[in-house]
Amino acid sequence: MEDSLLQTATAFNRACQMVLDHGSEQKTYNKNKLNRDTYNIVRNAIPNLPSALVQTARDQASEILKRAGFKKIEKKRLSIRYDKRTFKFYPESNRVSLTTVFGRLSFPFKHYAYMDRWKGEYTNAQLLIRGEKAFLNVQVKIPDPPQIKGTETLGVDRGITNIAVCSDNTFYNSKHLRAVKGKYQHNRRALQSVGTRSAKRHLKRLSGRERRFARSVNHSLSKAVVAKPCDIIALEKLSITKSKKNGKRFNHKLGSWSFRELQTFIEYKAAELGKTVVLVNPRHTSQACSRCGYVNRGNRHGSKFKCLSCGFELNADLNASRNIGVIGKSEYLRLCINQPIVTPSEAGADGSYKPTPLGGQLT
Ligand SMILES: [Zn+2]
Repeated sequence: MEDSLLQTATAFNRACQMVLDHGSEQKTYNKNKLNRDTYNIVRNAIPNLPSALVQTARDQASEILKRAGFKKIEKKRLSIRYDKRTFKFYPESNRVSLTTVFGRLSFPFKHYAYMDRWKGEYTNAQLLIRGEKAFLNVQVKIPDPPQIKGTETLGVDRGITNIAVCSDNTFYNSKHLRAVKGKYQHNRRALQSVGTRSAKRHLKRLSGRERRFARSVNHSLSKAVVAKPCDIIALEKLSITKSKKNGKRFNHKLGSWSFRELQTFIEYKAAELGKTVVLVNPRHTSQACSRCGYVNRGNRHGSKFKCLSCGFELNADLNASRNIGVIGKSEYLRLCINQPIVTPSEAGADGSYKPTPLGGQLT
């Protein structure tokens, strides 16, 4: 353990003890009175203890006096109380910055998995020294879960024949897109076979133009989608496109089509309107019946969907978009209710839970 911490804790305890002694003699735990009576004396006696720690020592003494009823108390345990001004907790980089008698210093600590679960505003901390080890208890204020405004959900299926199909029965087909893409592809091949310097220059200009075209299509498409009357927009998770099923769907002719760019545009435009985007697992979205839920690969024949169980018929992409919408809505509701995820052992007898402080061991 760092000597700087031991020295700081010793100085902190001394400051706390001075206030404790004064309070028990004067029979007061009033913070203002204690501050008036002891602040300058403590500062003069322990000049290397920063003012903010003199104040937290006084606060701690006041609370002990209140609990103990002015009994004479000796603060033996080596500890330091930190607040927002005197500590900063960085669980991502496993470091904590603490005010000490040598100024502000940064210390590494051992990372535990529960630190990733309790994230929020780190408001207070207590450093404890036991033998050769230092422990830090950190209080975290967990942000409120997202507010449920409305749950009107729009499912959006992205694909080849149709760039996007929405569960409200709107289709954005890729006919024009494919025609333009085909033209670019044709020109590109022709120029590639020429191979001169001017052809290469031309090729470069062409690819810039093609990229801008794709961007503008994604802009207008995303704008139209987020403008629809809905609170939640559900899309399939794209990272799964590497799997066989979706790989085939997405990486076909429009392989270079930027579905990810479309998603990014939808996400930021939705955020501007206060709408939520939920990404769902694409598993079974094209094979399940959006009316009865029956899943079977045989339900789908190209662009047609016909449920082998209930006989429901629909355009296959529209059926998928409805499934995406239903899954997206339930995902969203789960997020609202279960955040943060609390295991039964952490919940109180009445089902409530209290955020437990983080305990990090300083190395
Ligand atoms: Zn069905």
